[in-house]
Amino acid sequence: MHATFPLGRPAGIRVGAHWSVLLTMALLAWLLSRSLLPDAVPGRSPLVYWATGTVGAVVFLASLLVHELSHALVARHRGLTVESVTLWLFGGSTELTEEAPTPRTAFTVAIAGPAASLLAGAGFLGASLPLPGATGVTLAWLGWTNLVLAAFNLLPGAPLDGGRVLQALVWRRTGDKRRAQAAAARSGQALGLVLAALGLAWLLWSGSFAGLWLAGIGWFLGLSARAELAVGPARELLGRIRLGEIMTPVPVTAPGWFTVQAFVDQAAAARFRTYPVVGFDGRPVGVVSLALLARVPEQERAATRVEDVCARPPVCPVATPETPLTAVLGRIGGRPGQDLALVVADGALVGVVSPADIARTLELAVLGAKARRPAR
Ligand SMILES: [Zn+2]
Repeated sequence: MHATFPLGRPAGIRVGAHWSVLLTMALLAWLLSRSLLPDAVPGRSPLVYWATGTVGAVVFLASLLVHELSHALVARHRGLTVESVTLWLFGGSTELTEEAPTPRTAFTVAIAGPAASLLAGAGFLGASLPLPGATGVTLAWLGWTNLVLAAFNLLPGAPLDGGRVLQALVWRRTGDKRRAQAAAARSGQALGLVLAALGLAWLLWSGSFAGLWLAGIGWFLGLSARAELAVGPARELLGRIRLGEIMTPVPVTAPGWFTVQAFVDQAAAARFRTYPVVGFDGRPVGVVSLALLARVPEQERAATRVEDVCARPPVCPVATPETPLTAVLGRIGGRPGQDLALVVADGALVGVVSPADIARTLELAVLGAKARRPAR
């Protein structure tokens, strides 16, 4: 899910919203202002209903963000790299670029979101008690929706949080991570089917829009679970490949202390578009591409050093020869200056992994062969 609007970087985590979240917001504001509030506190002006309803919808989305940020912060606290948090039509998604190394970490990251929603729900309900009128009703609604959100997310099917919890428990019990993933995904498929059927029955029975919503969520859940089942074997294969096996060993480097102009003259004779940048002591500094250098105005190229404009970690991933390919796969993005992983051993650059290295590895895997380091 790609964010349409960036919402900032709290605690260094890229937070954004997909345009479809506007639909969710409009729907919730409409539900509150046109049906819930007029029923609970009749006799106020439409303006009061709409203002309170809109604020309620925005606060609900903010509490959704708190749910996702809890996943993200716990993941980061446990040493995992968090790519982004995005809000969209059916809620939020937190993207991690690596998998949890232990069942315990997987469990803690998964449970953090529902725990935050549970706390938020209890907080809103508590705050609603002494308040009369539209504000109290809206706070109580926020409390209950957060509690429902926590409960719904704990349903035991991937990719819901409850599915991840189930996966962590099966993993811990069997010691087999892939089997646990497959079990959680199958459970997610079944759950998606049940929810879609319930939603459709609800829609047909009462004509309620909530039925359509539930059917949509069930359909999406089933599709996501099926996709997880399908990529399982490929992930297993990729998880066994170490970067040391597929990297391009010590390639042409860009000396960080060179001026952009001096390096451009040198790069004209090399055959690459992206280069690892090394410092004077040979330590890797970052990654620079011709596209990144082209952004330096011509009159500044003789006075700007390569290391001042290069992309530095964590924008470009740094890994060791033992790192599994899956750990950097999502982070080699194809954007200029970001499409190279640096492979470092004992503080020195030993190789790089480019999208071409990865494509070659995958194509060889399809052909039944294994990538080997070239003979020298
Ligand atoms: Zn969650």
